[in-house]
Amino acid sequence: MDAPGARNRAHQRSEPSSSPLGSVIVLDGKMIGGERNQTQELPDATAHAGMMAIRRACEETGEMELRGATLYSTLQPCGMCTMAAIWSKVRRVVYGAGRQDVHAMYFEAKHIDTLDFITDAYRDDIEIVGGCLRNECAALYSPPDADLSEEQQANL
Ligand SMILES: [Zn+2]
Repeated sequence: MDAPGARNRAHQRSEPSSSPLGSVIVLDGKMIGGERNQTQELPDATAHAGMMAIRRACEETGEMELRGATLYSTLQPCGMCTMAAIWSKVRRVVYGAGRQDVHAMYFEAKHIDTLDFITDAYRDDIEIVGGCLRNECAALYSPPDADLSEEQQANL
């Protein structure tokens, strides 16, 4: 017999387009990890696209460090994913839509900008670049001024 929720998870797995949050990791011109947000289907609060892509890339390479790699994300990474990028030793983080381009519900802190985590990291070999396909990526998300109920907001 299936575990509770298995049917629901299988259903959601069949619709990868249901999540706009996606990340890929590229090393030497080859994609070594590509995932989307899977928090609801697993369920796992840490299963953000960036976290999942890092896990896949580490599995693919057999290494816990991804030196020289670039992590691409449709949205500016949250604090957790930004820290994971730092710990995974990726060389670059490139994202599309930024914090100011989407609704605040996609972020965990009111005032802390995760870009500061990169600036303040014990590393001088990591950079973060935003605005790649900014408009196309922003269109995937609720806009900053969207009138969303509390039930609709992921971070409350
Ligand atoms: Zn995240």
